[in-house]
Amino acid sequence: MTNATDYQNIFREIVSEFKIADDCGEVATYIPELGKVDPEKLGIHLTTVQKFHYSFGDSNDKFSIQSIAKVLSLTLALKIMGKDIWKRVGVEPSGSAFNSLVQLEYEKGIPRNPFINAGAIVICDILVTCLNNPKLELLEFIRKTSGVESIDYSSKIADSEKLTGFRNYALTYFMKDFGNIYNEVEPVLDLYFHLCSIEMSCKELAQAFLFLASGGVNPITNETVISPRRTKRINSIMQMCGFYDEAGEFAFRTGLPGKSGVGGGIVAIHPGKYSIAVWSPKLNINGNSYKGMKVLEAVTTKTMSSIF
Ligand code: GLU
Repeated sequence: MTNATDYQNIFREIVSEFKIADDCGEVATYIPELGKVDPEKLGIHLTTVQKFHYSFGDSNDKFSIQSIAKVLSLTLALKIMGKDIWKRVGVEPSGSAFNSLVQLEYEKGIPRNPFINAGAIVICDILVTCLNNPKLELLEFIRKTSGVESIDYSSKIADSEKLTGFRNYALTYFMKDFGNIYNEVEPVLDLYFHLCSIEMSCKELAQAFLFLASGGVNPITNETVISPRRTKRINSIMQMCGFYDEAGEFAFRTGLPGKSGVGGGIVAIHPGKYSIAVWSPKLNINGNSYKGMKVLEAVTTKTMSSIF
């Protein structure tokens, strides 16, 4: 276990070791709001289960966490509905694009896992069924889990997601045809687009995900978010499905469960030790933060803290 000074120095060391050749990737542009982000931003924040914080760079800047939020909606659905959710969504890596229609056709409207778009949309359908005011209650859950009251949706991003969300509409109607969407399409996608629009900083993300490093209880807020058994399940799904088509690569190089989003954020968990969030907006061809992947690989290598 490294001490306080080590993490801080390790972050500095890693960033100073980046070469010009490492400055690759493209900022997501499928909606204008994401394209406006400063591509050179870089934030890192690590929080230990003993509640020590270590940060680097733009770690307090809020950014669009996009698909990272799918872990939090899954957590809430699992808490509310328990194991019955696995009748409607699988737990296998998809091996195809995050928004693929082809696989859904073969598998009769049951998405491979809760982190591809179709799976996250089914989770939103479950939340729309179970909650009176799904958008508000999901936000309250995330605020309570993280202990950060200022976390919010970005209505600009949610609106843009809706305007460009043709494929998500296609996925939802397709699943409705298979009987795996119970509600009307609009409220389900409204929740989904808002979920994708949540903005958080690296510090807030690391804090919000700390429960996954400590058996389901956030040591900062003392909030019991979910049981240890379900914590294990969520971490397992992150390990296998958290990086689009690159989950194997992330496990191979970094060796931690994690989840990325097209806003350039990545969260990774070391069960029993820490949660870490990295943000660098330029994405590699698989839609994962180019530098974020490199930072996390270097962190577990230098601290010898992979789970494997
Ligand atoms: N908002 C995107 C979509 O639904 C997903 C973003 C992500 O994968 O991070 O198409």
